[in-house]
Amino acid sequence: MRFGHNELAPTDKEVAYLVGVVSEREDIFQVREELDELAELTRTAGAEVSECLVVHRKGGIDPDFYVGRGKCQEIIQAMEHLGCNLLVTNDELTPRQHKNLENTLEVKVLDRTDVILDIFAKHAVTTEGRLQVEAAQLHHLLPRLRNRRDLSRLGGGIGTRGPGEQKLEMDRRVIRKRIQMLERRIDEIGRRRAVLRERRKSQSIPNVALVGYTNAGKSSLLNALTEVGVLVEDKLFATLDPTTRAYKLPSGKVISITDTVGFIRKVPADIVAAFRATIEDIVESDVICQVCDITSPSLEQKVNAVDEILADIGIGPKPQILIFNKVDLVGPQIIMSKLQHLKNDVRPKILVSALKHIGLDKLAAAIQEMISINLAPFELTIPYIYEKEYFVVRHLLVIEKEVFEDAGIFVKGLGPEGVVGRLSTIAHQLSYPRG
Ligand code: GDP
Ligand code: MG
Repeated sequence: MRFGHNELAPTDKEVAYLVGVVSEREDIFQVREELDELAELTRTAGAEVSECLVVHRKGGIDPDFYVGRGKCQEIIQAMEHLGCNLLVTNDELTPRQHKNLENTLEVKVLDRTDVILDIFAKHAVTTEGRLQVEAAQLHHLLPRLRNRRDLSRLGGGIGTRGPGEQKLEMDRRVIRKRIQMLERRIDEIGRRRAVLRERRKSQSIPNVALVGYTNAGKSSLLNALTEVGVLVEDKLFATLDPTTRAYKLPSGKVISITDTVGFIRKVPADIVAAFRATIEDIVESDVICQVCDITSPSLEQKVNAVDEILADIGIGPKPQILIFNKVDLVGPQIIMSKLQHLKNDVRPKILVSALKHIGLDKLAAAIQEMISINLAPFELTIPYIYEKEYFVVRHLLVIEKEVFEDAGIFVKGLGPEGVVGRLSTIAHQLSYPRG
């Protein structure tokens, strides 16, 4: 039995109507931003987006109809007018809301989680990835099973991916058993990954993790980097999963690069849990390369969202590189204006095109530099008279905390030993003034 990848081609194009609810207490801009992201996710999943509606409700989400019963009538008319055949909600729906919406609107209804799972299903190419996606899908499906009798007719996700017909025929007990089996296999793979990781570590092979939003081009970049001069299969890299590959830096040093699952805001915790093995790879890596799609709107917010997720999973201070991919699609002017928003970000920024193999040598050089520096932890207060000296070397530091205090700039993080040494002498003079 195979799940998550139904071979059938979708019959006709799905046209989506997106809706989000904002309460009195919530920030309308935040909800709008979330809807923009949801629109992008929906397109990534393969549907067309026709409209994004924000519904204001004093008390927030309606427990029965999400947008409220009255608003449903308005949405029916609008959807008919626009030729929409799919409703996508910004928040995760309860089984009850889902059933009510589908019965009232008589169209397929998906929530944000469905769309995310659909994208993960589409992008999962490895054994592990498929197991993880299926476990996450079943977790999400389980409480909703009783109310989705007619889903077998409609298909679970956008297109025909997502939980297929077979799944719906299984009863809960069978699904629970299958989840247990999947989790055992995921654990097993996780353990094998850990063993290989330890072995690479013991041979001092540094690891670089590619992180970032789904669709940013992480997998393409890994392919582009390792296509040129692929090394002979070494048992250190012979995993079940081709997401970690060997890569030879210009210096000749061999490192490993790991492709990871895409990040998206508002992913439910049990779904994140299904991807824990991949997350461990990120936490254990030596350098983090955040891959961004330069063509995507709200680039800065996305970088921030990924930073937040990285902080949530507890990566701690680590050298990072910001990679802007897909530069083949935009002109230099647009690139300049986009990067302008991130001008205060101290991380090295590299422009690449995974598709057209642009900038890969610069990226290799940046990774090489990040890996070869010996980073030391520090915690210092730099007096303002040395502010200039501090800002000259600031871009070399991995800053965890920076506070402008009365006594000077308090800064905590990691830095190249030499730089940290120099900064300590400056800071030292503050604590023990001369004379
Ligand atoms: P991931 O989800 O981050 O792993 O992204 P993928 O590597 O799967 O790429 C997502 C989509 O972006 C695919 O359709 C790629 O062909 C496309 N893509 C990736 N890199 C580039 C690039 O440099 N230029 C262009 N034009 N498209 C790219
Ligand atoms: Mg990928």
